[in-house]
Amino acid sequence: MRIVMAASEVVPFAKTGGLADVVGALAPAVAALGHEVSIFMPYYREVKAAYRQAVKSDLSVAVLLGEETVRGEIWRGEIPGTGVKAFFLGCDRFFDREGLYGTAKGDFEDNASRFIFFSRGILEALRAMGIRPDVIHCNDWQTGLVPVYLRTIHGGDAFFRSSATLFTIHNMGYQGLFWHWDWPLLGIPWSHFNWKELEFHGKINFLKGGLVFSDLLNTVSPTYAREIQASDEFGKGLQGVCRERAHDLFGVINGIDVRTWDPATDRHIPANYSAGRMAGKAACKAALQERFSLPAKKTVPLIGMIGRLDAQKGVDILLEAMPRLLGMDLQLVVLGTGKEEYEKKLKELSGAGGKVGVHLGFDDPLAHLIEAGSDFFLMPSRYEPCGLNQLYSLRYGTIPIVRKTGGLADTVTDATEENVARGLATGIVFESCSAEALTRAVERAIDLYGKKTVFGKVRRTGMAQDWSWDRSAKEYVRLYEIARERRRRSFSPTVG
Ligand code: ADP
Repeated sequence: MRIVMAASEVVPFAKTGGLADVVGALAPAVAALGHEVSIFMPYYREVKAAYRQAVKSDLSVAVLLGEETVRGEIWRGEIPGTGVKAFFLGCDRFFDREGLYGTAKGDFEDNASRFIFFSRGILEALRAMGIRPDVIHCNDWQTGLVPVYLRTIHGGDAFFRSSATLFTIHNMGYQGLFWHWDWPLLGIPWSHFNWKELEFHGKINFLKGGLVFSDLLNTVSPTYAREIQASDEFGKGLQGVCRERAHDLFGVINGIDVRTWDPATDRHIPANYSAGRMAGKAACKAALQERFSLPAKKTVPLIGMIGRLDAQKGVDILLEAMPRLLGMDLQLVVLGTGKEEYEKKLKELSGAGGKVGVHLGFDDPLAHLIEAGSDFFLMPSRYEPCGLNQLYSLRYGTIPIVRKTGGLADTVTDATEENVARGLATGIVFESCSAEALTRAVERAIDLYGKKTVFGKVRRTGMAQDWSWDRSAKEYVRLYEIARERRRRSFSPTVG
């Protein structure tokens, strides 16, 4: 199959979160199964800096944005070392700036224009280059309009006649909502601005466009696929749309890129280790303590946490639990950026009682050190479509402490007595989204830390698991096939 993956961020070119990790690893994994895969993303300033090998193509695109025609460049490259082609859509007016979607002050005001340009531009570029995809795999709201354009302005276009679409929801909490005054920029008739299609409480909803117009949908874990249909808490207003498409909505757990996330070869950590040779992990712990100016205690359980500082990640619950956690014999290190209020409160806690280390910022090497040097990894998420850090943690012998939601529920098995006895336990799982439940979970973790044999067994069980992309890539290939089948059926006159 010829597959084109469209995403607003892809590792190693630009990243703000898990989406970039997923596309950057899934594309080579699908290619390794014998398919022709390419990726499309914007040519951000960050890409220009990170990837100097991109070559400007002679071809360009002309995208209609309302009344205006905006020209875009096509840059070519590849995901290094994989042979997967990468196409970058350039337009300095939209992409040559600091940040991908906004600044600390908020989202860019022209995000509607930027991602209309990107979505329409992908289709223009494919046509210009003569690439006729069997499947266009779109991801999140930034590419939600690609399926919309395929079935509206490109609806009668023979070139894309057999191109099916799969739309992956990585996070329902970000929908690409824009006021209705932006509608003329889209270039499609107002008749599509209705509650069954792109309208959402008077606004334009790009994510909804993807959900309604794609041939097939998936999200990044089976539990999250159920949760987003079940309630407003997870569906964020689009639960009805998800329910309506229940038969087309699948859940596929993300894999992890084992080339970059492997304690045996990781170049960001001071000592490598593996399940059979754990000595290096103690050296990583010592380095982590030193990095955060924490006392170099070998026997104190060290808990790590990394992520966007957002209510989604349960940072508020952690903050509420802090006074009680500080009374326990533990160390905690946090790496993240996000909401100003959380950053401020965490900064105030930094150094507290010689127990807390905080680094505000985005720092990939430090993320590796935290995964390697911690004994436990905390994810008290309110919701979590899949989550990657718990998978990295399992591989790094860092026992995850997670809230039972979304992908966390699907990937971590609680260390109950029975699960331990059966050799299934990999972490500490707690149910309620509260400071009390989090505190109790940390108490359980400390208790587990004290029982060296059980601790070792739980750790080894996690390290033995295979969360590489091979398995998930096969599931995606199956979804591509189903999407193509749905597409074929949709223009067969004999089938409903
Ligand atoms: P989300 O996509 O919701 O942000 P995920 O757990 O799926 O959460 O993926 C987040 C990814 O981004 C992980 O690879 C994580 O290590 C990384 N990450 C998040 N915040 C930071 C940070 N401040 N520094 C380094 N890496 C980070």
